[in-house]
Amino acid sequence: MTPVRHTQVVVVGAGQAGLAAGYHLRRAGLDFAILDANAAPGGAWQHYWDGLRIFSPPAHSSLPGRPMPQQSGTEYPDAAHVVNYLSGYEKRYDLPVHRPVRVHGVDRSDERLTVRTDSGTWHSQALVMATGSWGRPFVPAVPGRAGFTGRQLHTHGYRGTSGFAGQRVVVVGGGNSGAQIAADLHAVATVRWVTRRPPRLLPDAIDGRALFEIATRRVQDDGPRISDLGDIVATAPVRAARDAGLTARPMFDRLTPAGPAWADGTVWPADTVIWCTGFRPDLAPVGLRRPGGHIPLEGGTRSIEDPRIHLLGYGDWTGPASATLIGVGRTARTAVTGITDLLH
Ligand code: FAD
Repeated sequence: MTPVRHTQVVVVGAGQAGLAAGYHLRRAGLDFAILDANAAPGGAWQHYWDGLRIFSPPAHSSLPGRPMPQQSGTEYPDAAHVVNYLSGYEKRYDLPVHRPVRVHGVDRSDERLTVRTDSGTWHSQALVMATGSWGRPFVPAVPGRAGFTGRQLHTHGYRGTSGFAGQRVVVVGGGNSGAQIAADLHAVATVRWVTRRPPRLLPDAIDGRALFEIATRRVQDDGPRISDLGDIVATAPVRAARDAGLTARPMFDRLTPAGPAWADGTVWPADTVIWCTGFRPDLAPVGLRRPGGHIPLEGGTRSIEDPRIHLLGYGDWTGPASATLIGVGRTARTAVTGITDLLH
């Protein structure tokens, strides 16, 4: 017999977004459970590569209530430091995280929500989806991809420079992970970085805090959009690679068995192609309709189709800068205020 449990609110995901929701649910005095598919704390951060550095100092990378400590010897901590911070955060606020528990589906047909997991069923009155996007890597359909005889991986599978020394590596993608992985490999491998349009580095002074402030001003319709300024945070390793000559080429047209090929007949033999082509929100279990794009929301995070459900941390469409450590706390507070209003 699988157990059936009851709580007021189920949060799906114990990454930074789920923990920020937990902090505000605790303060609101609600009964809740956080269900997380990972076996260990840290959300997506536990899967990032060794050389990754966060894009703002700890003082501007903190969840509500508990400042991130400094990491000794560096202004920009690594992913392991963030994992330690998130792990300590769970303990500090005694958040009821259940793991590993994977949510397979949510039945919304009843007065109460039924959350089906691989270790039993939960009934709740409200639900916060905080599943991130790490679980849904996206690779575009490129002609010839299946026939390439070298190795292909996605950001999702990249663990660091080990094994790449002397290789010819094609890094595809003009966003943050493309720039950061191209920069990471630039010192050890022959890197060809390809992007659909010329990569746009944000000005060097724009870090996580500045992004948060720009996104905040945008809510008041005041000031530029982040996308008006650029796509890539110029972290110290990205700046160093740029200064050492890392540049991008236009996207290739197809993959041959040997490597990428361009319309002018150029073929570049490659050992590895790394697809830094993004992720999609991991929202399948909740089964909400998305007519031609994102799931329609109101009040920042609340589903219009089912107001018992909030989506947290998926990008600016679920709250300004809500997919960042510094930004998600404010949106989590908004979501929990909405849930409190619903339940009282
Ligand atoms: P996640 O961290 O992905 O956590 C989601 C959790 O939900 C996971 O533990 C997962 O196991 C769980 N889950 C998923 N599906 C289910 C399910 N069906 N059932 C149960 N559990 C489930 N942000 C910054 O603020 N600063 C940075 O410097 C920065 N650098 C970044 C660099 C890279 C390369 C990337 C990819 C992102 C970076 N980000 C940065 C963004 C940030 O890391 C992510 O946006 C963040 O991890 C998202 O947090 P989250 O809690 O929404 O999701």
